[in-house]
Amino acid sequence: MADDARVESEGFYEMLWDCPHCETKGLFGKTQRHCPECGAPQDASTRYFPTPDQQKLVVGHVYEGADASCPACTAPQSARAKNCTQCGSPMDGSQQVREAIDRSVAAAQAGARTVAAQHRRRRWPIFAAVSAVVVALGVAIWFLFIRTHHGEVTITGHRWARTIAIEQFGDQHHEAWRDAVPASASFPTCFRKQRTTRQVPDGEECHSERKDKKDGTFEQVRKCTPKTRSEGIDDDWCSYTLREWAKISEEKASGAGLAPAWPAVTLAVDTPATFGARRQGHRGETLTLDFGPDDACDVPDAIWRKYADGARAKVDLRARSGGVVCDSL
Ligand SMILES: [Zn+2]
Ligand SMILES: [Zn+2]
Repeated sequence: MADDARVESEGFYEMLWDCPHCETKGLFGKTQRHCPECGAPQDASTRYFPTPDQQKLVVGHVYEGADASCPACTAPQSARAKNCTQCGSPMDGSQQVREAIDRSVAAAQAGARTVAAQHRRRRWPIFAAVSAVVVALGVAIWFLFIRTHHGEVTITGHRWARTIAIEQFGDQHHEAWRDAVPASASFPTCFRKQRTTRQVPDGEECHSERKDKKDGTFEQVRKCTPKTRSEGIDDDWCSYTLREWAKISEEKASGAGLAPAWPAVTLAVDTPATFGARRQGHRGETLTLDFGPDDACDVPDAIWRKYADGARAKVDLRARSGGVVCDSL
């Protein structure tokens, strides 16, 4: 139950009791302190809740506290009684009557909510176990795959690969939310669709609980907690075109050795931006050091040129696979 629950009294109602002497049933806990059939005093320890549709409101009830059991004859007496109305015994040293537990369907549902909350509190050992497994798994991964030691490798070869993008100036299709469409976009066409959600108030979730006040009555309280629901927020999703350079293909060259070359491209870099024009675009380069047939590292130019073929390099090696840790070059 959330802390922001709204609690509201729905009034005080009669608890019930059954006469143990003459079998009269359903007597009122507050207004019938004696059995109207045989005169036997009420036994407060046998009070019970009526079914919800049979309960009787105690109009104008003033709650004075839980009844006390007479120390001499056990008859329930008002909290303010100084002497027992049944046997006349002083009420000194008397004890409160036992509280009855509501076993109706509604109470079972309210109880289920409490049990669910307790289960949430009991989840922490599961959380601890899951954490332990995650840590163990992390250690295992480190031991098998991340752990390294120092070693040496022989550089067996240098390789290179270079690319030049080919770009064309034309109308490129894009989609975006309206607030992200550039001002230079042509012909945006938009439609409404859900962009995000927000939580909005959606009334309350309420249930009633019955609490034995131990004076022959129970109080029914209504507990309500605010509910929310998810509401979609729409925005304009737009298709538009931009006249701009865009990559349409790529020229590639690759080889071995220390003399990389660019692929042959006749297009100019500074081609004027007219519709359908093509130009050279972005240039890319990958430089690779080989350590035998099965191991290699892509490295920056300075490191690639630092080692000659056949040179030895001090590196970190993976403890399990023996692979070179490229960052250690
Ligand atoms: Zn009776
Ligand atoms: Zn008494």
